[in-house]
Amino acid sequence: MPALPAPVLSPRRKTRKIKVGDVYVGGDAPISVQSMCTTKTHDVNATLQQIAELTASGCDIVRVACPTQDDADALEAIARKSNIPVIADIHFQPKYVFAAIEAGCAAVRVNPGNIKKFDDQVKEIAQAAKDHGTSIRIGVNAGSLDPRLLAKYGKATPEALVESAVWEASLFEEHGFHDFKISVKHNDPVVMVRAYEMLSERGDWPLHLGVTEAGPAFQGTIKSATAFGALLSQGIGDTIRVSLSAPPVEEVKVGIQILQSLNLRPRKLEIVSCPSCGRAQVDVYELAEKVTAGLEGMEVPLRVAVMGCVVNGPGEAREADLGVASGNGKGQIFVKGEVIKTVPEKDIVETLIEEAMKLAETMEPV
Ligand code: SF4
Repeated sequence: MPALPAPVLSPRRKTRKIKVGDVYVGGDAPISVQSMCTTKTHDVNATLQQIAELTASGCDIVRVACPTQDDADALEAIARKSNIPVIADIHFQPKYVFAAIEAGCAAVRVNPGNIKKFDDQVKEIAQAAKDHGTSIRIGVNAGSLDPRLLAKYGKATPEALVESAVWEASLFEEHGFHDFKISVKHNDPVVMVRAYEMLSERGDWPLHLGVTEAGPAFQGTIKSATAFGALLSQGIGDTIRVSLSAPPVEEVKVGIQILQSLNLRPRKLEIVSCPSCGRAQVDVYELAEKVTAGLEGMEVPLRVAVMGCVVNGPGEAREADLGVASGNGKGQIFVKGEVIKTVPEKDIVETLIEEAMKLAETMEPV
């Protein structure tokens, strides 16, 4: 991966590095983006199709649910054919943990809150995972907190989430197993942030960030961006999953955008567009939308400024690789800080796209 653009808000907190298939998580590994299939896992073709879509959108690691024996039986084919590491998500039934490990899944997510007898089986799980090179995620979730902790704390407080995670971590560590990461998810970003902050003080485990049940796309995006931003800006977080009540590809797009916004991933196409106001002499929304659509999928770090008037227009357009400052039915087109031409309003989009393509040819994809 090319060098990260500086600056970042805070250096990454030092965590242990583990492997999820061929993706490293923790340590100095780039922060990975995860999502989860919405297909029935036993429908192998549909699941592989969705994994292919997720892979194309930039997803690094994918998780699949495993609630039935049919799903467990499908894991081998899915793990073998997927181009990205597959994590089996197991609740309630320890036997599926062993099935997923045997099936060659890159990792298994276990929920200490709802796997009965789990604690008694940690030794066997740790041994099986070690034998197969499988890593584990200890996935504590506010909605399925261990009833003992719920009784102790009254609700899923940060302390309760952390106590559950640290307890499970200690069980694995007692058996000499260290290839695990931890999540402590809550639907309230404030509780979630506090839980991860506390957890990060307790050990060097790699952390999987997530706001659980974050909601529909708009709310979930805001909640995730707020919570992840608060943690990542402190250097906390090694892999992220945005949970949205929306197609999983959307989760990946949001996750990647959050990392890019914090310079934790190289930025690709970036549209700098003004919000418009009473001074605008052009329809900025339409212009920005058309330019964004015309440049979708661009893999180079191109910054394009779309500005509605001459107040901030020339300044922003000059700072960008390419830009337009609109006014009086015309657009001044800037390339690398220089005005290269002035075009009528109707030609602005076409000109910007044309110039963007020329610039893209001179740039290295990221
Ligand atoms: Fe308003 Fe001009 Fe600023 Fe856009 S660039 S928000 S139109 S003042």
